Amino acid sequence: VTGYGPFSTEEWIAHFPFSKEAREFLEQQGFSISTFFEFENKVVERALERVRDAVEQGHVLSPSLESGFKYDFEVETLSYPVAIYLVASLGNRWLIERYASAESKRVFACLQLKRYPAEAVLQLARGGLEWKWVTYDSVLKAFKVPVIKYVKYAVRIGGPAWKLVNQRVEEGVVLLSYEKFLRFISEGVRLRILERCSQPAPQLETDVYKKSIEYIRNLLSQTMRPIAPMPKSVDPGAFPPCIQQLLRSIEEGRHLPHAARFFLASFLLRVGVKPDRVVEIFSRLPDFNRKRTEYYVRHIAGEKGGKKAYLPYSCERARSYGLCSMSDVCRQLQVQHPLQYYIRYRRAKRRESE
Ligand code: SF4
Repeated sequence: VTGYGPFSTEEWIAHFPFSKEAREFLEQQGFSISTFFEFENKVVERALERVRDAVEQGHVLSPSLESGFKYDFEVETLSYPVAIYLVASLGNRWLIERYASAESKRVFACLQLKRYPAEAVLQLARGGLEWKWVTYDSVLKAFKVPVIKYVKYAVRIGGPAWKLVNQRVEEGVVLLSYEKFLRFISEGVRLRILERCSQPAPQLETDVYKKSIEYIRNLLSQTMRPIAPMPKSVDPGAFPPCIQQLLRSIEEGRHLPHAARFFLASFLLRVGVKPDRVVEIFSRLPDFNRKRTEYYVRHIAGEKGGKKAYLPYSCERARSYGLCSMSDVCRQLQVQHPLQYYIRYRRAKRRESE
């Protein structure tokens, strides 16, 4: 890495503890993660700080980015796999998603601020994320990503700017600008952490391990409050299966793609849930950002932007986004729209009770 401008290998490794250079450094140390839980030490302390930042702020802060702050590059690097181990061994879906998203934001912030040369960024993708399929065209000043890989990573980033139709595609390869590629890499980091956290991480018997787990459990109980009941005028029992499924996913702390968020928010608003309550429901999302969500929900409600209140997708459209969980009731009620389901189901229930 050295030789790519004004930054050191140590800083590089601390910023990107998943890089090839960091892996080599970790191998040289020859440590096993369980060793760190045998006694109190700075690595576990920093690992818990990473998890705390993720839970409380949704963003792991990078001390190496703060000017004048003396950080210990070894602690910074070693604490990354230790934090992942703790998150994986708790097995809490919300925490896993939240941690993965928070670390990926940190990586994105480091990349954006430091403006590493394209060659170094390429090296991070090819060596760190093992994306052997990425190349860089120095004439076009673009990273080249095969369409199939592009779709895999871009689908969760969402928004029109990432739609395949809006990309420059040449012979099965998407051309990404430097700026966009940084975001693309951070999504790769997120997915990589999710993969690592889905592998088993055995519980340990030491006091330091038990205390660490207890600390994280406490953090979670303070943050993950149960979703409050719906207002009285709204009948959640009449929600169609697609909407119930999305609410369950939120309750379990799962990530929801852009289309699913729009579908859920527009449905809830239409059946009479107030924007503030919708924002509260969305606050359970692992990548929740209050300001952005408030704007987004108010926009869908027609209180912002074009002042147009949006309708949820029709069943056909929901199906095309993979959001339909059709049941026999949907068939019996012959619905073409989730709002139709809500109205017809309530009517049928009322008739039954009369
Ligand atoms: S058929 Fe319509 S209402 Fe039923 S689950 Fe699918 S999208 Fe929802």
